[in-house]
Amino acid sequence: MSFDIIIIGAGPGGIFSAYELAMHAPDLKIAVFEEGRRLEQRKCPIDGKKVKSCIHCPTCAIMNGFGGAGAFSDGKYNITNDFGGTLYEHIGREEATHLMEYVDEINCRFGGAETKMYSTAGTDFKKKCMQNGLTLLDASVRHLGTDINYIVLQHLYDELKDKVTFFFETPIESVEKTGDGYKVHTADAEYEAPRCIISVGRSGSKWMETVCKDLCIPTMSNRVDLGVRVEVPAPIFEHITDELYEGKIVYRTEKYEDNVRTFCMNPHGIVVNENTNGIVTVNGHSFEDEDKKTDNTNFALLVSKHFSEPFKDSNGYGESIARLSNMLGEGVIVQRFGDLERGRRSTEERMAESRTIPTLKATPGDLSLVLPKRILDGIIEMIYALDKIAPGMANDDTLLYGVEVKFYNMEVELDENLETCHKGLFVIGDGSGVTHSLSHASASGVYVARHILENRA
Ligand SMILES: Cc1cc2nc3c(=O)[nH]c(=O)nc-3n(C[C@H](O)[C@H](O)[C@H](O)COP(=O)(O)OP(=O)(O)OC[C@H]3O[C@@H](n4cnc5c(N)ncnc54)[C@H](O)[C@@H]3O)c2cc1C
Repeated sequence: MSFDIIIIGAGPGGIFSAYELAMHAPDLKIAVFEEGRRLEQRKCPIDGKKVKSCIHCPTCAIMNGFGGAGAFSDGKYNITNDFGGTLYEHIGREEATHLMEYVDEINCRFGGAETKMYSTAGTDFKKKCMQNGLTLLDASVRHLGTDINYIVLQHLYDELKDKVTFFFETPIESVEKTGDGYKVHTADAEYEAPRCIISVGRSGSKWMETVCKDLCIPTMSNRVDLGVRVEVPAPIFEHITDELYEGKIVYRTEKYEDNVRTFCMNPHGIVVNENTNGIVTVNGHSFEDEDKKTDNTNFALLVSKHFSEPFKDSNGYGESIARLSNMLGEGVIVQRFGDLERGRRSTEERMAESRTIPTLKATPGDLSLVLPKRILDGIIEMIYALDKIAPGMANDDTLLYGVEVKFYNMEVELDENLETCHKGLFVIGDGSGVTHSLSHASASGVYVARHILENRA
């Protein structure tokens, strides 16, 4: 079968490419291939009773399917070039910002209009950060929340389903370059188009590597972010989370001049396990539903590491450290900040005395036996710096869970059109290594769609 454009992956990148193409050129024959299921069929079997932990389904309902990795997320669409990816390096800051705003308009039109947009513009908190050696990154954030994020995706699918041919539960096995375009192969069929947009996200990282190898597309190693998830009583950060929802704060350490940053703040949220290929790391969630809110706020403190020569495997480094924590703690380790500072492990008895009640059952232990000194020193310095703007942060009962690791895809060599060295083959979203967020991935999809529309024969 042949199409005008083939899109691989129905995460935000693929959805927004399809949307822009279908709305502006209804005559185009567009196909979207998605390894996972339709939105309403995405159900993780973990129910807390019969199935308590990950049973490694052939395709993960949480990561794969219409809506991609962020379908069940908190839906924080950050409009900024300060974090979330380096799309601006390819397309310019102004264009990137306009596209993220356009994505926000669409999200609002498809069900997100009543949700709140938070902004760092004009906040006094920025000055307070500066006065204490911290930098508050500029951003506007549309917080859709889990429920509305799902509704927006549902509405987008309803809009697209008659304009685009969707192939669900149809992983693309390989991409072949033909004389005048691309042929994609599934387990039992092949499809052709003169143009192909690949948007396979983090879950498609290994597959993306093989495509780049097969088609001789140059790639570069990316960074890995390592650190801990911090949990404190919610009132300690309330003045920040009430105004900004999520403050992205960066601290440059005195000792090594490394940057330590806050990531993924979850006011009144919970700390959760995350299973990546059998390695258990830590993450956080928050809820719109008042009944699910807890008394704690959690966020990550992360340090980026990028290896180039002779060792290039930044993700491998992160995985080894996560494995070490799993070996010592049989999963995630939790430690009171007071115990870490006194050079002793946390124990069940010490945890029982903690006034901050953990929201995740983790193994009390010693994170200094897991995290490299340089990273841990940076995290400790940042905790004291944050204590100046959020007193109580450096309390003995502040809980540190480890390890938190953020893996990034290798970066695919792309030009200013997000096109590979092969004409008509584009790579967008997190699978390209260029974006790491909902808004950047979506914006990259719109950008490539517009480029294709402008250059139609
Ligand atoms: C729990 C969680 C919470 C998050 N919360 C936020 C947040 O609040 N804000 C934020 O900005 N970011 C958040 N993120 C990150 C965000 O979800 C991603 O940055 C974003 O989804 C990337 O979009 P994408 O389209 O590039 O890739 P993805 O969303 O990963 O979509 C890629 C799709 O491609 C499909 N695919 C992969 N390989 C193939 C193949 N060979 N053939 C066919 N299909 C394939 C996958 O099944 C997947 O559906 C969160 C991520 C997670 C996991």
